[in-house]
Amino acid sequence: MNRRYRKTVIAGNWKMNLTLTETQTFAEELRPLLSRSKWCDVVLCVPAINIPNAVRLFKNTRVAIAAQNVHYEDHGAFTGELSARMLREQGVKYVIIGHSERRQYYNETDFTVNRKVHAALAEGINPIVCVGESLEQRELGVTLEHITYQVKAALSGVPAEKVRKIILAYEPIWAIGTGKTATTQQAEEVCQAIRTVVRKLYDARIARAVTIQYGGSMNTKNAAELLAQPDVDGGLIGGASLKAADFAEIINAANQE
Ligand code: PEP
Repeated sequence: MNRRYRKTVIAGNWKMNLTLTETQTFAEELRPLLSRSKWCDVVLCVPAINIPNAVRLFKNTRVAIAAQNVHYEDHGAFTGELSARMLREQGVKYVIIGHSERRQYYNETDFTVNRKVHAALAEGINPIVCVGESLEQRELGVTLEHITYQVKAALSGVPAEKVRKIILAYEPIWAIGTGKTATTQQAEEVCQAIRTVVRKLYDARIARAVTIQYGGSMNTKNAAELLAQPDVDGGLIGGASLKAADFAEIINAANQE
């Protein structure tokens, strides 16, 4: 983390978990635990159907509500999809784009990721863009090439003044939901490489200001060590964000001096 230059952001990705009733319970449990939250922004990426209620439940707290996906067109014959404007009108502040589960199961490509980034930015929604290598790519030694390509593709055509609105989340696929976490060195190496890509695409000032998260089995035990890395500016947290007490503990780890 480096709070002098950029925001620290802790985001929970609930995926297809927690019903409305469970969301209400979570909000009741998390609210009193949030009082010590000073330094980091907190985001909850809830299932789309629960977005309006989540916005209401977390009103007047530090928690911003996010979507887990968005369509790249602003309207039309796209059954089952939601546009960035629809999300914005419901109070959505962030949206996850290019999560590896969407790349794997729903045909998300670097091309659609880029279009979605532009669609979100056009509505003032902050994209959380996920990039990450497979185990095979890591073992072949092509991690940094792959990540560089994904970051460049995601940012293609994004003007300099909008880059700071984007969070880049490094999520090694082999660490998501597996209980295997990247070592602090691995996380820092890739997050630093992502910052270098941004610097080469734009400039040093923009690269310094961009928030880069780590995601992949981050939990109450490993969060502090990961967040202590200079280029790890927060976390995208799946499993450990489903329990209010655990999520609050990770937020507090990001709030340490
Ligand atoms: C994720 O879904 O983005 C994620 C990192 O999940 P988990 O923390 O469960 O590995």
